[in-house]
Amino acid sequence: MPETEEQSLSGGKRTIAIVGAGIIGLTIARRLARGREQALLIDPLAPGSAASSGNAGHIATEQIFPLASPETMLAAPRLLFGRNSPMHIRLEYALKIAPWLLRFAWASRPSAYQGGVRALLSLQEKSLDSMRALCADEGLADLLCVQGHMVVAESGKALRALDARRLPLERHGIESVLLAPDEAAARSPFLKRGIAGALLLPRTGHVLNPHRLCTALHKRYGEAGGLTLRARVENIETSDDGGFVLRHEAGAIEAGKLVLAAGAWSAPLARQLGHAVPLDTERGYHVTAEGAPDLGGIAVESHERRIIMTPMDCGLRIAGLVEFGGLDLPPNPRRHEDLKRHLRELAPALELGGLSEWMGFRPSLPDMLPVIGASPANPNAIFAFGHQHLGLTLSAITADIVSELVAGRTPPIDLRPFRPDRF
Ligand SMILES: Cc1cc2nc3c(=O)[nH]c(=O)nc-3n(C[C@H](O)[C@H](O)[C@H](O)COP(=O)(O)OP(=O)(O)OC[C@H]3O[C@@H](n4cnc5c(N)ncnc54)[C@H](O)[C@@H]3O)c2cc1C
Repeated sequence: MPETEEQSLSGGKRTIAIVGAGIIGLTIARRLARGREQALLIDPLAPGSAASSGNAGHIATEQIFPLASPETMLAAPRLLFGRNSPMHIRLEYALKIAPWLLRFAWASRPSAYQGGVRALLSLQEKSLDSMRALCADEGLADLLCVQGHMVVAESGKALRALDARRLPLERHGIESVLLAPDEAAARSPFLKRGIAGALLLPRTGHVLNPHRLCTALHKRYGEAGGLTLRARVENIETSDDGGFVLRHEAGAIEAGKLVLAAGAWSAPLARQLGHAVPLDTERGYHVTAEGAPDLGGIAVESHERRIIMTPMDCGLRIAGLVEFGGLDLPPNPRRHEDLKRHLRELAPALELGGLSEWMGFRPSLPDMLPVIGASPANPNAIFAFGHQHLGLTLSAITADIVSELVAGRTPPIDLRPFRPDRF
């Protein structure tokens, strides 16, 4: 007798429950449904409506240097207290974030930092190919634009700093090209004149609409028979046979395997599975100039301002900033004003139209590495969260890894740096 959808939504031993339908949960769910696994995606929100909807869309394969670094520690006073700094701590949250910041400082020591570079590189070496394959397999190649992006410098000093970044990038196999101002202008229809120069990273890219990528993946997942339940998982119990019972406000779900991909909200559920992970959030902001859709050209990052502007099908999006303020405080309107100022200064000739505002929660661990892998306490619980500034970039490779783990195979990447019990 065929199972009814209602029966399937309460799961079973063959069910793989995926908690969280952001870009990480969605790419995983899609991979599992393709492999004919019985997947059940659970989220109280519509798929892809949290951090994954409003990010900058940058496929940031060049980002192999964790933010937890000796360089960041040297710049910390300026970053935390400087005027116009891209990093802020909300006063109301200062005490709560202090232990995380101490761990961040510890993770920034040279030996840990070098280990972090190797770990990020191991993911990044495969991230673009995985993303390309995902988009091609799903018929979404038109959403992915792989023509590189550039980091612009507005002053000679910044240009020298950019030039100095080339050697460490090259040492790790990352190509870069220094551009004269007119060469940079030719690659961007909106960038202001009068910059000092730019660094082109040719093997990066951007997606034309991160939210549309999520909804398209979810649609294909549903068409392949994947199920979705709109519910918040409140409690996870492990059964004697290593399976799980997930309780939500309206009932319970039985699952033989579980993937925890609840982004910045993953820590309480990880704790119930036996792992206290120091996950917090680096809140980030965007403003989208909706009067400037389909501009073409590549994404433009500003070295001095630490923001990125990405041409999308929904408009020109400027995104960035790091704010430590937890999950509950409202957005700070001043951050949106900061972004609007950068936008007007960097794209002064552009007709901006309506400006939409957004804030989202990057899921970040203090060593700036995600948690990916099976729980040492129960191999049926697989973790995939904490992708910080790189969740879109690393989504497809994370799904590749998780699908290998679900199938009981050894993934092609050493997962030890990403263990949930590394802290
Ligand atoms: C301003 C900004 C710019 C960014 N730019 C980029 C970029 O250019 N490139 C890049 O690679 N990354 C970027 N990022 C980072 C990227 O957006 C995130 O790393 C990524 O979206 C995280 O995806 P996720 O699926 O883990 O989390 P989310 O998208 O936040 O999804 C988590 C989901 O879990 C659900 N959930 C939570 N609790 C429960 C529960 N108890 N039960 C069930 N479901 C639950 C939530 O409702 C949510 O839908 C940016 C982030 C920000 C904020």
